[in-house]
Amino acid sequence: MTESKRLKIGEGKISGYLSIFLAVISLGFVICAYFPDTFTTKDFRAIYNPQIVKWSILAVLVLSFIFAFSSLILSKKKRYGFISTIIIAITILLGTALPEGSGIQDQSVTIGLDWLLIDVLVSAIVFIPIELFLPKRLNQSKFHEEWRTDLVYFIVSHLFIQIIGVIVQFPAVNLFKSIGLESFQATIQSIPFIPQLFIALLVSDLFQYTSHYFFHKIPYLWRFHAVHHSTKHLDWLAGSRTHFFDLVVVRAMSFIPIYVCGFSSSVFFTYIVIVSFQAVLAHANTRINFGFLKYVFVTPQYHHWHHSDDPKAYDKNFAIHFPFIDMIFGTYYPMGSDWPESTGLGDVKYPKGFAKQFVYPFVKNPQEDLEDASER
Ligand SMILES: [Zn+2]
Ligand SMILES: [Zn+2]
Repeated sequence: MTESKRLKIGEGKISGYLSIFLAVISLGFVICAYFPDTFTTKDFRAIYNPQIVKWSILAVLVLSFIFAFSSLILSKKKRYGFISTIIIAITILLGTALPEGSGIQDQSVTIGLDWLLIDVLVSAIVFIPIELFLPKRLNQSKFHEEWRTDLVYFIVSHLFIQIIGVIVQFPAVNLFKSIGLESFQATIQSIPFIPQLFIALLVSDLFQYTSHYFFHKIPYLWRFHAVHHSTKHLDWLAGSRTHFFDLVVVRAMSFIPIYVCGFSSSVFFTYIVIVSFQAVLAHANTRINFGFLKYVFVTPQYHHWHHSDDPKAYDKNFAIHFPFIDMIFGTYYPMGSDWPESTGLGDVKYPKGFAKQFVYPFVKNPQEDLEDASER
C-alpha cells in the first residue's frame, strides 16, 4: 500500500468508515447488555447508569446513521453506507428485544468488551480529528499496512484487561502486602492533590524508565521490546503494539511504587487517566508540540525520537511522563525542533502480524538474523 492513500475530506469514505465504526460500537454495547456477566468489567459495572448507557448507545446509533447517510450521498461506492445501515438495523432489532435486566453473577474471569468499546470510542473521538487536521506525516494514511496488526494488539490488551490486571498486581501485592505500610501510606495520602499526583507520576516513571532501559540494554529482553519498535508508522493505535511479556513486566514494575505508596483514590484515578492518555498521545501522528510544555512533559516529538531508526537516537528518551528523568540519567536526545526522518528497526526484519510477533522473541533474536544476512 502506498503512502498516498491518505483519505480526503468530501469523498464519502471517511463518513463511510466512521459510520461502520460507530455501528459496530453500538452493536458491541448491545452484546454487552445481553451478556453482562461475561462481557463487562467488574470494576466498571458499579458506575454504569442504565439510563445514561441507553441514551449514549442511541446517540452513537444516530451519529452512525447520519454518517451513513452522508456517505451514501457523497460516495460513488455505496457499500460503506449500506454495510453500516445493515449493522444499525441489527443493533436496533437486538436492542428492542433485550430481556429485562436480571441480577449479574460475578464470574472469576470476565472479558473487557465494555472497556474496549469505551476506550476505542473515546480515543477515536480525541485522536482521529487530531491526526486528521494536525498530522505530522501528512502522507501517512490511517490505513497503512500495519494498522490491522496494531488494532489486534489494542483489542487483545483491552479484552484481557482483567487477567492482565491480576498478573500486573501480583508482584506488588505479594511482596509488600504484609510489611505494614499503613502509616507510610497515611502520610502520602495527607499530601495535597497536585504534589501527590506529581509524586505518583514521578515514582512510576522512574520504575518505568528502569524497566524500559533494561528492555533496551539486555539482548534477551530487547527481543520482546523490539515488537514495540517494529512499527514504521507511528500513530495513536501503534502505541498498543507491545509484546504481552513486555506489557506485563513494565506495568508490574510501574505498579509497585503506586501500590506501596497507597495514593488516595482521586490521585490514583487521575494518574490512570494521565498514563493512558499520554501513552497514546506520545505515539500519535500529530505535530502538536505544546509550546514550552515540551520541556516539562513527554510529547509526541519526544517519543517519536525514541522510535527513530537513526542510530544517533538509539536508547534515548525512555521516560513516558517527564523528560528531565532522561536529562538526569544522560539519555536525553537533544532534538531541538527536529523530528525523526523515519521510525522502526532499520535493517532488522521483524515478522509481521500479532501471532508471529508473539512467538518470534521466544525463539529468535532479530539481531542475529540481521548478522546472518550480512555475512551471506
Ligand atoms: Zn523502547
Ligand atoms: Zn513507544
